[in-house]
Amino acid sequence: MNRRMKNVEYSGIRKFFNEVKKYNDAISLTVGQPDFKLPKSIEEGIIRAVKEGKTGYTVNQGIPELRERISQYLETEHSIKFSKDEIILTVGGSEALFVTFGTIFNEGDNVLIPSPGYPAYENTLKFVGAKPVYYSINKENGIDFDGIEESLKTMDIKGIVLCFPNNPTGISITKDDKEKLYDILVKYHDCKIISDEMYSAISYEEFETICEYEDILDRTILVSGFSKMFSMTGLRLGFICAKSPYIEELNKVHLYATSSAASIVQYGTLYGFDEALKDVIFMRDEFKKRRDFVYKRLLEIGFKVRKPMGAFYIFPSLEGIVNKKSYDFCVDLLKNGKVACVPGSAFGEMGEGNIRISYCNSIEELEKGLLRIENYIKTNRV
Ligand code: PLP
Repeated sequence: MNRRMKNVEYSGIRKFFNEVKKYNDAISLTVGQPDFKLPKSIEEGIIRAVKEGKTGYTVNQGIPELRERISQYLETEHSIKFSKDEIILTVGGSEALFVTFGTIFNEGDNVLIPSPGYPAYENTLKFVGAKPVYYSINKENGIDFDGIEESLKTMDIKGIVLCFPNNPTGISITKDDKEKLYDILVKYHDCKIISDEMYSAISYEEFETICEYEDILDRTILVSGFSKMFSMTGLRLGFICAKSPYIEELNKVHLYATSSAASIVQYGTLYGFDEALKDVIFMRDEFKKRRDFVYKRLLEIGFKVRKPMGAFYIFPSLEGIVNKKSYDFCVDLLKNGKVACVPGSAFGEMGEGNIRISYCNSIEELEKGLLRIENYIKTNRV
């Protein structure tokens, strides 16, 4: 067994997801996948790809036509400049992260990651032998810029992972935050920047990204994908953008890991892309209504919570509500309140004291779920 496996943990989100299945009368607010159907244009695109016999290997980097379309999309929507040759299509965002960490970090490298944060960062870094160093994104006033700067000043930091809109908090960066981050990161030339923008299309305010700064783009790697944007989590299509020499090395690791993303998914996404962008607007607007509803209800129940700016998660604090660890609270809420939420501790130590609620559910279902939470809290409040 690879000795580094000792440090790698099974995802706390998945663990809880499996637990929920045992309670078939529970409402699950745990999942990280949109409840909308695959856009029709992509569905038809995939069928067309099958009929056209597009079922052989594609070039490892992914079909050039789709890479070109992504390059255009990034430039027109977000002012991000990566050419088609600087993009690799991957098997979901997960492969994109795995390949990125495996390619650019060495054993013992210190890498700053957000806490609370998506569990793959910590675990994949440990798998490659790098050392996660945490920065808080959930302080009273948001991101801990001073903490980031302090770590960069005092430790040999080889990379920083950014994730906005964020899983699990739904928090994003404002223009002001983006400028602050840039002012810090521009000074540390050895620090690679990995920007996970998996939720960029689900932004309720102007989407801001560090990738628009061209003078640091040569050490910035953008990781993203279509799982959330096009509601196609199971079809597994993501991408990595990076400049030379990173892109060539990333492509080698991608080649040996998977050869390529599934051919019919690449073609189907290409064929349906433009039309599916309309579905994205519809989904984002629906998520916004749900965000507003859930946020308002949580405040009414008495939770302290920040208003998400994107993604489809909200991360209320348990402070003043119950005197329990987030895991124990979620287990008890599931057993006795019949609602499943993910314990904040599944997102690292700094997630303790909170729970993640996913609003990938109809308003009716969310209404029922929140009523159950309210009733449970009434009898269990501190
Ligand atoms: N990055 C973030 C922040 C995520 O939340 C997820 C999935 O939940 C991923 C990456 C992985 O995406 P995929 O499902 O495409 O592998």
